[in-house]
Amino acid sequence: MTKVPIIYYCMDCSFSAENKHFKRCPRCGGVISYERADNQYRIRQGKYDVERYWDFLPLQDPRKLIGHGNERTPLIDSQELKSKCSANKIMLKDETKNYTGTSKDRMAVVALSQMNEFGINSFVVSSTGNVASSLAFLLKKHRNIEMHCFAAEEFISRHRFMDSPNIIIHRVSSKYDSALKKAFKFANENNIYHDGGYFSVAKRAGLGMAFLEAWEESKTTFDFYFQAVSSGMGVLGVYEIATKMKKCSMIDSIPSLMCVQQSTCDPMVRAFSTGEKRILPEHIIKNPVGIAKAILTGDPTVCYPSLYKVVSDTHGSFISVSENEIKSAQKHLNNSENIMATPDGATALAGFLKYAETHPDQLKNKSVLINITG
Ligand SMILES: [Zn+2]
Repeated sequence: MTKVPIIYYCMDCSFSAENKHFKRCPRCGGVISYERADNQYRIRQGKYDVERYWDFLPLQDPRKLIGHGNERTPLIDSQELKSKCSANKIMLKDETKNYTGTSKDRMAVVALSQMNEFGINSFVVSSTGNVASSLAFLLKKHRNIEMHCFAAEEFISRHRFMDSPNIIIHRVSSKYDSALKKAFKFANENNIYHDGGYFSVAKRAGLGMAFLEAWEESKTTFDFYFQAVSSGMGVLGVYEIATKMKKCSMIDSIPSLMCVQQSTCDPMVRAFSTGEKRILPEHIIKNPVGIAKAILTGDPTVCYPSLYKVVSDTHGSFISVSENEIKSAQKHLNNSENIMATPDGATALAGFLKYAETHPDQLKNKSVLINITG
């Protein structure tokens, strides 16, 4: 675990800075990504993900790690799904087996460790439940860091592990998008660090580790990667990790990124289907509802442009699925793959099944990774 400088750079313009962290580009407002100055990436020995994938993460000081990291989650080579289409390989990454039941545990370790490196002892976050629960799970043992968690009323019951004196819940009697805005306002007014949401390189890198782990186990260059999206930070995180893997010849190509949303809250699908590079007012879902509770972002205006870019660059797509399609995918996961997925996690499989039905030729002899995020 060496201290190679980290270069933070803008994904939209030529701005870059060594070892100086920005949440957004100071020149153009774009998304800031990161790379090691030596551009050398290799997998190390270790039981936990942050130990093995240290080179791929925007972290520099192992002494500041919060949490050990996460143990490997199962990777399932689904013969039943393969028998239903022309793909060569269909693998399911079972992220429900993380400690709190979702992929957000990977995010929490990297995000909190980065804040610890920065010397931050109080921060603000907003969540539909999974992000805050993963952070809270670790913070119970790290009471020197305080978390202000903004939660819309309808998601309060989804916030778990909150019974610790260093965790303060701010109830917001409106929708998730309002909780998001109130959290930013509170952070600004009280001069408390905002965790950055989609714009956090650490959160995205943490989520991207699931892809790296799937490669480590299967040594497969996946042609397609399916994931349910809300802001899309998990998918952008996979793109950033895959870019590093390609640089050091671990993979030949970056997979086509396939983002799946539920039809009752699919603003990105609406924008993408009309070729829009940004979210217009008519794409925004004002009062989103749906069975996949973790992905109810009705207004992804700030996230979508960068996601659009990487999805287009990788010849990926945005797919909308119905409640019945999600339920059917969830049933398959529960009954045939031994994955106790929530509707959120099952949304990714529903997207794959829909794509397989509508684009059978595109999958011929291809390798597919579907991330069942929780
Ligand atoms: Zn820029």
